[in-house]
Amino acid sequence: MNNPLLQIFNTKHTTAPFSQIKNEHFKPAFKEAIKRAKAEIDTITKNSDGPTFQNTIETLEFSGKTLDRVSSIFFNLNSAETNDDIQKIAQEVSPWLSDFSNDIRLNEKLFKRVKNIYTNRVNLDLTIEQQTLLEKNYKSFARNGANLNGEDKKILREIDKKLSKLSLQFGENVLAETNAFELHITDENQLKGLPDGAKEAAQLMAKQKEKKGWLFTLDYPSYIPFMTYIDDRSLREKLAKIFGARAFQNNDNDNQQVVLDIVKLRYQRANLLGYKTHSHFVLEERMAETPEKVISFSNELLVKAKPAAEREFEQLASFAKKDGIEQLQKWDGAYYSEKLKKELFDLDQEALKPYFKLENVIGGVFTVANKLFGLHFKEVSTIDKYHQEVKTYEVTNTGGDFIAVFYADFFPRKGKRNGAWMTSYKSQWKTDGTNSRPHISIVCNFTKPTETKPSLLTFNEVTTLFHEFGHALHGMLANTTYPSLSGTSVYWDFVELPSQLLENWCYEKEALDLFAKHYETNEPIPMEMVQKIKDSSNFLEGMQTLRQLSFGLLDMSWHGAGESPETITSVKEFETDAFADTQLYPDVVENCMSTAFSHIFQGGYSSGYYSYKWAEVLDADAFEAFKETGIFNVETAKKFVENVLSRGGTEKPMVLYKRFRGKEPNSEALLKRAGLINKIA
Ligand SMILES: [Zn+2]
Repeated sequence: MNNPLLQIFNTKHTTAPFSQIKNEHFKPAFKEAIKRAKAEIDTITKNSDGPTFQNTIETLEFSGKTLDRVSSIFFNLNSAETNDDIQKIAQEVSPWLSDFSNDIRLNEKLFKRVKNIYTNRVNLDLTIEQQTLLEKNYKSFARNGANLNGEDKKILREIDKKLSKLSLQFGENVLAETNAFELHITDENQLKGLPDGAKEAAQLMAKQKEKKGWLFTLDYPSYIPFMTYIDDRSLREKLAKIFGARAFQNNDNDNQQVVLDIVKLRYQRANLLGYKTHSHFVLEERMAETPEKVISFSNELLVKAKPAAEREFEQLASFAKKDGIEQLQKWDGAYYSEKLKKELFDLDQEALKPYFKLENVIGGVFTVANKLFGLHFKEVSTIDKYHQEVKTYEVTNTGGDFIAVFYADFFPRKGKRNGAWMTSYKSQWKTDGTNSRPHISIVCNFTKPTETKPSLLTFNEVTTLFHEFGHALHGMLANTTYPSLSGTSVYWDFVELPSQLLENWCYEKEALDLFAKHYETNEPIPMEMVQKIKDSSNFLEGMQTLRQLSFGLLDMSWHGAGESPETITSVKEFETDAFADTQLYPDVVENCMSTAFSHIFQGGYSSGYYSYKWAEVLDADAFEAFKETGIFNVETAKKFVENVLSRGGTEKPMVLYKRFRGKEPNSEALLKRAGLINKIA
């Protein structure tokens, strides 16, 4: 069959040949690509020569190229331009792919060769990048139990099976509890305070269920506006308590035993593999490295943020006192925060939008990339695309060398999932002296133009564009030998550094002057407005920080406390202890956070919740380097490219970071930016 996915792409820069691909091409392409990849691995394991870095690690690294390209095209489309057929294909091919990767992970012959090279690594003359690649490969086997004896391997598989069942169970219970409740209101008086948009949504929901009045649920789009705006305090209390009791009601959907079972099994799994706790296991492959480091990092921030948080809580409490509230409760937080914010800042998001016409903001982000990194973006019509709305660019450097293909897909449509993300169709690598450049894409869901108005972005959309573009730069400026260490293939708590760093330029007058101009009058954005944005973004930052830290420390308590979780009997008591230093509101006895903490018990964030704050510390500390030298200082930018953006995951993140910054990151810059410590420190 003439399948475009299986041929060498005859397009410019060998970009994905979207216009030639039909849905019926995918399944045969996956089948054939997996076959080819398997054959490539067979040549490694059947090689009669002894294992060497080149004939094993490097060959493995460059195997499966066809499969990589087919997968990236297919799964990117499944996110950005999907339909029923594509979703059906995804269901069918996903098990093929997990079977294939299991085949590799459990391939004992392959592991034997990898281990042989790893054990002899000091005698080999390997570059740092090669050492990293070797270690990464070895660990991917070892962390899955390749070194265990037969009996222990069996135990490990049993634990894994139980764990995947339990996290599924956890998620199902939370979902069932979330769906089990709805608040039906028929008296419009009870809706006082709620904005029209949220009211209409509640009315629509009632209508869909053939009910009169308004319906509210525990889903965020319904729950959050309710808690933020509804004047009736007893209603807020009612909904908050039901929300907080999810999977903690001693019914069929209760998660208390599930939580205890998960933490015990994770602990046993870690021990079996030779780690002290689950956190030690997870953090081995993170910039933070150890639970001790995460805990001391969190406590250090806590000490500094807590006084500010307590002051803010007092401020909020005395503000609420005017309404006769004697003790501020959890269900008052969002409500009075919103009211106080309005009183203090009165920031009109609508008034900002005319200064952020999409085309101007795109021009702005390209100018920033040009001033800092010397990149040029040229829109071209010669690159094949998957939808007419997608914009395509050729990216070159000051010397005119080709750097990357860049796709940008801005507007929502049926078939695109929510949110914004960066992805790639092809990563970067070097073979035989040629540097094969990457194909990078960003996908967003921004405000669409109308018949009378161009696309005018909210400020939040502006920072989102800079954020995703920061990830894109990480991909585009990659300059490594091996694709699996290239671009954004870095440890999880390091990957948000370029993206969050770039957001900082959105708050600087020098940068805004380049593009934030009124789309009708061409007038630059007034600085008072920018100042207001800055100030309001720091509003109640102490309380926010404390909240984030409380979740991170709870996560660490469950997974990295060091002692066996066998002794834990009460989820609620354990949680209350873990929260002891971080709570401002009175405890609600009938509520529990852990039983609905899906991030760590259902998704993949266990021992990772700290990463949010960690990434903020990093980006603030890194931006400080630019502020010290000028936000468009090319020397600082060059250092950032040479030591971070171009280096991907070729070395440990802390090593790369220190080379850029000359020191380890510390929280001072973040605390200053967030207004939590005095500006002059
Ligand atoms: Zn991001």
